Order: sequence, then C-alpha cells, then structure tokens
Amino acid sequence: QSRFSTLRPAQTDGPFALDAAFRADTDPRKVNLIIGAYRDDREEPWHLPSVTEAKRRLKVEHSHHEYLPLQGSPKFVEASRRVLFGPAIVQQQQPFLASIQTVSGTGANSLVAVFLEQEHLRPTNIWLPNPTWINHADIWKVNAPNVKMQWYPYYDDAKRELDFGAMVETLQRDCQEHDAILLHACAHNPTGRDPSQRQWRELAQLCLKKRLFVIFDSAYQGFASGDLDSDAWAIRHFVSYPSIELAVCQSFSKNLGLYGERVGALHMMVSRSNPNGANLAAAVQDNLIDLQRACVSMAPLFGSRIASEVLGNSDLEEMWKADLSTMSGRIKAMRSALHDELLQLRTPGSWDHITEQTGMFSYTGLSKEQVEELQLKHHIYLLPTGRASMCGVTSANVSYIARAIHEVVS
Ligand code: PLP
Repeated sequence: QSRFSTLRPAQTDGPFALDAAFRADTDPRKVNLIIGAYRDDREEPWHLPSVTEAKRRLKVEHSHHEYLPLQGSPKFVEASRRVLFGPAIVQQQQPFLASIQTVSGTGANSLVAVFLEQEHLRPTNIWLPNPTWINHADIWKVNAPNVKMQWYPYYDDAKRELDFGAMVETLQRDCQEHDAILLHACAHNPTGRDPSQRQWRELAQLCLKKRLFVIFDSAYQGFASGDLDSDAWAIRHFVSYPSIELAVCQSFSKNLGLYGERVGALHMMVSRSNPNGANLAAAVQDNLIDLQRACVSMAPLFGSRIASEVLGNSDLEEMWKADLSTMSGRIKAMRSALHDELLQLRTPGSWDHITEQTGMFSYTGLSKEQVEELQLKHHIYLLPTGRASMCGVTSANVSYIARAIHEVVS
C-alpha cells in the first residue's frame, strides 16, 4: 500500500518531451524547430557579447554567493523597471509601483496568480488568449485553483491573422467587471501576431470600461522588433490611463540569453487616480514579498548580477541593443529566406504569414499530420500545432526545410 498509488503519470510539457525525441534521433539531417531559445546560424546557443563582457567585468570567480534581499537585487529591480516602462514613467509613477525580482517570467506569472488567488482580491475569471504559451493554463490551474480560466479567441486559423473582431466581441460580451485578463506584450507565443497600435488603444478602452485587471506577459521585449521601446509600447500605453491597474511579468530569458539563470521581475501598478495609491502600492509590495517568501524565498543571484551590469552601464546597454538587433535580424532574415524558398518551389498555399509574423515563432499553418510527416520522413521537429521556432532555421538548412515542407503540403 502506497499513498502514491492513485497517481497517474503526468504529461510532460509537450515541447520538452519532443526535444527529448529530437536528441535521440541519430539522423544527421535532423532539424530542431521546437524550443523557444535563440540559436546562431551554426545552430549553437549564442553568447551575447554584452553578457560576456559583463561577466568579465564582474570577475565572477571572486564573487560571493549570499542571499539576495527578499525583494531581489535593488539594482536589478530598478534597472528592470527602467527598461520596461522607460525613465519618464518610472519617475512619474514610482509611488504607485511595486516590483519584485522573480524566478524569471514563469515565476512572475506564478506569483501574480498566487497573489490574485487570495480571497479578498480574487477575480471571478482569468481570461487567456486561445492559443497561448503552453504553460499559462497550468500556471493558473496550480496557483489559482479558485479563479476560473476562460479563453478569448485570438487567432483566425483560416486567415492566419489575429482575430481581433472575435476577441473584442467575446471580451465585451462575457467579461465580468473586475475579471483579470492576460495579454502578451509583444511577439505573441505561439502565433507571432500582435494587435496594431490602433487595436491596443481599443483594448485599453475596453479594459478600462470593464475595470479589468490587466496582466501583461512580457517575455520578448526587444526580441520582436529589435527595439526595446517599440516592444513595450502597449504596456506604456495602458499605463497612460491612470485608473487601469496592471501587472507585468517580465522575463530576461530571451532578450539577454539568460534562460537557465532565471532572471525576471513582477511589477504591479496600482491606480494612479486613487489618493491613497502610494500606500496601496506599499501594501502590494509587502504582500508580494510575503507570498514569494513562502514559495521560493527569493530569486536567484547570479543572472541578476549579469543583468544589472548590462543594464546599469550605458556602454554595455548599447552593446546589448546591438545584440538584440543581431538576434531579431537573424530571425527576420530566416523568415524571408524560408518564405522565398517556398515561393521559388511554388509550394501550394500562401506563405506571406511567415514574414508578417513577429518574434521567435512562426505559426506555420501546417496540420498535425503534416507535422508528423515532417518528423518521420524528414527529421524536422516542430510542435503538433504547427508552431516552428525560427531560431532553428539557418542558412545551411533553410533549403532542406523548404523542400520538406513542399513535399508534405503538395
Ligand atoms: N511567457 C511567455 C509568453 C513565454 O513564451 C515564456 C517562455 O517561453 C515565458 C513567459 C517564460 O519564460 P521564462 O520563465 O524562461 O522567463
């Protein structure tokens, strides 16, 4: 007799299970379009020159391994606010802002869910886009079991575009006042389709009218357009409405290439039109610290040291901006190369969405069967939904990928 006898095997996160299958594949032609991590044109993880230089300056072999304060590294938290909101907003809104260093973006998403699960703060529903990052649903299921998960339509499969009409119609009709809504700040994962500025304006109005609590997930700032400010436009626009209260889950995994170091932050902004706003922000800050203390105590030290060094020195920050252009530029070039190859091959269907989408992923529109065939016959691995990480495409394998796609759709 065991207390564990009722357990069923858990389903490993799809991309990670598929990645294991890729590793086991011995075919030399194999291509990995699964995991959302940047690769250079030789399919290798890229050491960002700004990060390499930061590590050199930090003389890491001599640094200590003490605990961080519960709020995280003050230098890191201050720099992460500035990158996200821009110096002007930070200066004006500082009293209304609570920020805590987290175990990267996942930790920030989990912490905001734990925070909202508290009975006196609990929304009836959390609205997630359909589709969304594979982990969002599990994060909310585990951390906020009493908040009902609801889905708003996001993507028109036939047109391969954002389905803004259906999204707004559903939210207008079905959201209850004070519900929470999750929005991807840029480079929506998995579809690569973001609202336009006009559409973001409309969404801000809707959230204001319905008094929604807005949660931005910002995992790709600077990675989508190559420009940190453009990729934060939506967040900064929402902040311009004093009564919208919001949270931002910020990750430095992708844009600093610090995936395994778990560097991120959660920022919460209380109403700027409430005369008691500054006290409320202080209470939010204390509560976030308390909750994170119970979950993980504090975020890890090493990666935040690197991030603080890069973000805190103007010459390194300039290097980082160049690194962001390198990464986003290579992805854009690979989008164009794949698109052009498919056009040259006269592959049936339209492929313009590959170049129109933004960020790390392409939602290719390939069916589950076509994806299976790509894997079995051509050793090309992507998610069953047809999501391909463009980071796995290189100048050396792009023709091979295009010919394989041509074969499975023809
Ligand atoms: N949010 C989105 C939309 C993501 O795509 C990811 C990673 O793929 C994350 C959050 C969290 O990543 P991390 O926990 O590495 O910061």
